[in-house]
Amino acid sequence: MENCIFCKIIAGEIPSAKVYEDELVYAFLDISPINKGHVLVIPKEHHESVAAVDEATVGRMMKIGSRIGIALKRELEADAYNLHLADGTAAGQVVMHAHLHIVPRWIEDGFHWNWRQLSYADGEMAEISEKLAQRIAKKAE
Ligand code: AMP
Ligand code: ZN
Repeated sequence: MENCIFCKIIAGEIPSAKVYEDELVYAFLDISPINKGHVLVIPKEHHESVAAVDEATVGRMMKIGSRIGIALKRELEADAYNLHLADGTAAGQVVMHAHLHIVPRWIEDGFHWNWRQLSYADGEMAEISEKLAQRIAKKAE
C-alpha cells in the first residue's frame, strides 16, 4: 500500500531494527517504546484492521508475539510482557496497518494502563452478551 509507513518498512524503503521475519509476518523495534525492547509484529500483507487479516497470519502474529515476549524476558530480564493491539482510531490506532505490540514489563517500571472498572445495571450484562452472541454466530462484520 502506497504511503503506508509499515509497508515501506517491509519493503526496506525505511530502516527498521528487525527482530524477526518469515513469509507471513515482520517484527521490529517500536521507534518510541513504552519500555526499551518494545516490538511490533505486522502482517506482510497490508490490512488496516486485524479482522481482515487471514487466520494463519493472525495465528502467526500471536505465536511470534509470545515468542518475542519470552525472548524479552530471557534477554532483557523483563519480568513480564503485554500484548496490545489497537483496532481503529478510537482504540488508539495511529498507523493504519494492523500491528501487535509486545511491551516488556518490569515490576515498578512506572507504566500503568489507565484501566477503569465500570459496572452494569440489572439485566444489562445478559442483554449485551445475548446481542453479541447472536451477531458473532452470524459472523460479525
Ligand atoms: P498504534 O498507536 O497502535 O497505531 O502504534 C503505532 C506505533 O508505531 C507507535 O508505537 C509508534 O511509535 C510506532 N512507529 C511509528 N513509526 C515507526 C517507525 N518508523 N519505526 C518503528 N516504529 C514506528
Ligand atoms: Zn501497510
